Amino acid sequence: MERRKPLNQMSAKKRAELAGQGRPVWSTLARVPFSPARDTTRHATLDRKPAKATGPDAATVALVIERDRGCCVRCGRYVAGGVRGRDFSIQHRRARGAGGTRRADTNGPQSLIVLCGSATTGCHDHVERNRVEARGFGWAVRQSDDPAVVPVRHAVHGLVLLSADGSFTPCRVVAS
Ligand SMILES: [Zn+2]
Repeated sequence: MERRKPLNQMSAKKRAELAGQGRPVWSTLARVPFSPARDTTRHATLDRKPAKATGPDAATVALVIERDRGCCVRCGRYVAGGVRGRDFSIQHRRARGAGGTRRADTNGPQSLIVLCGSATTGCHDHVERNRVEARGFGWAVRQSDDPAVVPVRHAVHGLVLLSADGSFTPCRVVAS
């Protein structure tokens, strides 16, 4: 069988040609009609998938999934067999943005948990919409918090502290 090459992006020249024929080509990633008048260099940048520089790397994601046994930290359902972003999410306990992305621990295992669903379904959605409850269980932390010292109510492991190396430590509850 012949080796298949990955699909190439349509060249700017080809798109200009189609646009000239009154058939502008829309980018699938940025809904911007192609116009030869535009700066094509800039347009080519828009056409690429944004770099995932703001998210955790593949090794960290694998570590988090392994630590959480592939299960949703809130409901305990096994989800890792599904599609990330649809069936499960790697959730940031401390929301990104507000400078959070530049902090070294933002994409560390201590900041990340597996939740079922997407931003609009399952426990990921629930946690997004119920921030106070989520903070109570450690599924979310405040911007000012160090995720490594805030206990997480974990559906598989119980009450734990998550470490930067991808391990966890059981957390003893002090009786009041
Ligand atoms: Zn869940």
